[in-house]
Amino acid sequence: MPRKRMTKGMLQVYTGNGKGKTTAALGLAVRAIGHGYKVFMLQFMKGSKDYGELQAAEKYLPNLIIVQSGLETFVCKENPSRTDIELARQGLETAKKVIREEHYDMVILDEINVALDFNLIDLTEVVDMIKNKPNHVELVLTGRYVPAKIVELADLVTEVSLVKHPYYKGVSARKGIEY
Ligand code: ATP
Ligand code: MG
Repeated sequence: MPRKRMTKGMLQVYTGNGKGKTTAALGLAVRAIGHGYKVFMLQFMKGSKDYGELQAAEKYLPNLIIVQSGLETFVCKENPSRTDIELARQGLETAKKVIREEHYDMVILDEINVALDFNLIDLTEVVDMIKNKPNHVELVLTGRYVPAKIVELADLVTEVSLVKHPYYKGVSARKGIEY
């Protein structure tokens, strides 16, 4: 029997300068998986295997596939490397294919807003991808600096704002919290 599909897949955006965008998307993924949906997350500009979500998905969540399309090092906004650009473009091609094929009910494009802001990928291509999204696919975009055009197309936009973050009292990234 074919699995139950989302009746009306929408476009959600998690943006802003506070902590909680990628983890909000992962929370949605867990919720969707609980109802039997399949979720694909593509992480732009990330290459480290040390993210807890990668290990959790691999060990415990067969219906959550996470693929990275970036280097382990930070991307320099003013001067991204060729590999940074190439990996981001490959990531976008993968995203388009996954959305088109409809094997997943929810597709999360993590940090895609940052990849757009850094000009690693082209906004018109992303807009076309959004406009051609099949009805049964829920699309979730994360990252700071969401372009106005994407806000216009979205059904839900949440802006997480920074009120406090332990980074500002000298606490560096913590295992299980930041990664
Ligand atoms: P998370 O992955 O924890 O949900 P996020 O996706 O909202 O965070 P990003 O903007 O992708 O955050 O930043 C990645 C990392 O930087 C996160 O681990 C987060 O804790 C940290 N971070 C987020 N906001 C700030 C901030 N204002 N100052 C310093 N570090 C931050
Ligand atoms: Mg994030």
